[in-house]
Amino acid sequence: MSLKEVYLTGDVFLNCLQLAFSNEKQEVMGLLIGELKPTDTDDKSVNALITHLFIPQRADRKRDRVETSPEQLIEASVEAEALSKKLQKPVTVCGWFHSHPHITVFPSHVDVKTQAAYQMMEKGFVGIICSIFNTDQHHKNRVKLTCFQSNYNNLKGDYESVDIPFHILPVPSISSHSFETMINMQKTLNLEEINDFSLCMAQLDNKDFLTRFQNHTALAHAFSRIAEVFSQPLFAALSLRLEHNQNTIARLKEQIEMAEKQNRKSLKRSK
Ligand SMILES: [Zn+2]
Repeated sequence: MSLKEVYLTGDVFLNCLQLAFSNEKQEVMGLLIGELKPTDTDDKSVNALITHLFIPQRADRKRDRVETSPEQLIEASVEAEALSKKLQKPVTVCGWFHSHPHITVFPSHVDVKTQAAYQMMEKGFVGIICSIFNTDQHHKNRVKLTCFQSNYNNLKGDYESVDIPFHILPVPSISSHSFETMINMQKTLNLEEINDFSLCMAQLDNKDFLTRFQNHTALAHAFSRIAEVFSQPLFAALSLRLEHNQNTIARLKEQIEMAEKQNRKSLKRSK
């Protein structure tokens, strides 16, 4: 079985971008949930339709690497099972997403090896990378995305990445699940900060007032940054959606009134 093409819904793409833009200093990652569907032309190949993004808490936060633990994969599988029941169709964990802040979008040697390990579990598993904050003259102010799998090159005796064509599917509106992901994303990032803070406090030999004060200040600063990156844009997006919904309700009410008037006139005429 081989993976032919990848389709990503517009709202999951939005979730991926929001996650990527949340951190300029460290790589961030999520697991992609969706369906692997046989293609129309060939029963040996599949297309991936990605409909959900699951964001686990990072166990280790690094500038140039993200790692997925077996526990995180189990968590994502549990989420996929719950979603399958809710949607009444089977969805599975079929890919991973991570950011490359300040560097190119190309998968690193570690990414290619990690991807190969995922493909041993699921042949249709896909990797998506988003390059952001890259100030290189060809990439400045641009978001670049790549979709890849790993192939073993017998001549080189090593794994290499292979580009997989991908498409972003437009959606009429942001789904409620996508909104939940946006809100949970902030909670997950806050929890990561609390875990790091607790670890630092537990390891402190010298628990003097100033050191504790500094750690508390760093935590408050981290919370503020997350609120600035998430809450503000989310509030703006929700306000716009509310305004749009209110306008739609007003328009529909007008249409109902006009239809009722029309109906009353027709009834009078028929009498
Ligand atoms: Zn990478």
